[in-house]
Amino acid sequence: MLAGDAGPDAPYLRDPGDGFAAIDVDLRPGMRATGLDLHRREVELAGGSRVPYNGLIVATGAAPRPLPGTPALEGIHVLRTLDDCLAIRAGLEGGARVAVIGAGFIGAEVAASTRERGLEVTLIEALPVPLVRGLGPTMGAACAGLYTAHGVSLRCGVTVDAFEGAGRVERLRLSDGSSVDADLVVVGVGVAPETGWLESSGLELRDGVVCDATCAASAPGVYAAGDVARWYNPLFGEQMRVEHWTNAAEQGVAAARSLLAGPAAAKPFAPVPFFWSDQYGTKIQFVGRSRPEDEVRVVHGSVDDGRFVALYGRAGRLVGALAFNWPRLLMQYRGLLARSATWDEAVAHAAAGG
Ligand SMILES: Cc1cc2nc3c(=O)[nH]c(=O)nc-3n(C[C@H](O)[C@H](O)[C@H](O)COP(=O)(O)OP(=O)(O)OC[C@H]3O[C@@H](n4cnc5c(N)ncnc54)[C@H](O)[C@@H]3O)c2cc1C
Repeated sequence: MLAGDAGPDAPYLRDPGDGFAAIDVDLRPGMRATGLDLHRREVELAGGSRVPYNGLIVATGAAPRPLPGTPALEGIHVLRTLDDCLAIRAGLEGGARVAVIGAGFIGAEVAASTRERGLEVTLIEALPVPLVRGLGPTMGAACAGLYTAHGVSLRCGVTVDAFEGAGRVERLRLSDGSSVDADLVVVGVGVAPETGWLESSGLELRDGVVCDATCAASAPGVYAAGDVARWYNPLFGEQMRVEHWTNAAEQGVAAARSLLAGPAAAKPFAPVPFFWSDQYGTKIQFVGRSRPEDEVRVVHGSVDDGRFVALYGRAGRLVGALAFNWPRLLMQYRGLLARSATWDEAVAHAAAGG
């Protein structure tokens, strides 16, 4: 929608009118859950009414983190909801000078959509390279090359000291003393799980709803899925919270199955996390879980050619794989990750041609 190649209508997953009635779901749009009474097994709603439950799945997602010190000037946006998107799109259609704060996936995609419209964009990132949290420093640098080659003014290693403007944002002052003129600013500095409404419930929360391997939270009958859930993934032997679309869809199914099966028969949810991002005609896909300290090795193609597969290893194990424009090959490594392949096994697989 931001790049301008979609129609004006919202791309709903399911028709908000008939789509839910058809599967016998009582949809209550515009209704916020404000609290949870674990003892009485009731969800409290805005306005004071309560909904009793036998089983509850918490799927309240995440919300953009605010950037401390952001003033209430017009032209400063976050991007999560359709309304956020439409407001940013209106600015782009007006030919805005754009600055994006935060070079994670949201910020990088906003910058790419801005360039696709032929507009100038400055992408500001506090860390030395973009996408460190998702792809690590080595491959973040590969993305930096892609962005600058497409005309993004990439400013890494700096932060925003001040927003200037009268009523509407006009300029950003950066920590290195420079400034950036902008009348549309998108802040993309990450999200926080939507757990505020659960805080007094007694449910265990720690950067998300803490769940076991079956997506069960710390109270009977309560499960969580999607961006809000921090669950133990036995395949990787760690607790994780995944902020990606495929996981939200798959974990929703898994949490529902666990709820219906009951604690004794519930099965662990042990996926290989997967996400993609389309930028400048490049299909970026990642499977697994990266950390900044991982060993990273390009095993097919080359970064310079813009088509490659890189493997991520940690403690003798394959933990991730990244592909630029090579979806078929990447899926082989997803298979290796699913059966906990060692680093040596994965490198040998690559050496044999993939
Ligand atoms: C601009 C953008 C681009 C993205 N691109 C990609 C991508 O290319 N690939 C990818 O894998 N992922 C992408 N993502 C991430 C992906 O959209 C999320 O991981 C996914 O939407 C999470 O689904 P969810 O159902 O857990 O949460 P959400 O989609 O956030 O849904 C949670 C819902 O709960 C509602 N809610 C919250 N609190 C309450 C409450 N108290 N009471 C009632 N309702 C409440 C919210 O309004 C929301 O409708 C993108 C996200 C954004 C914002």
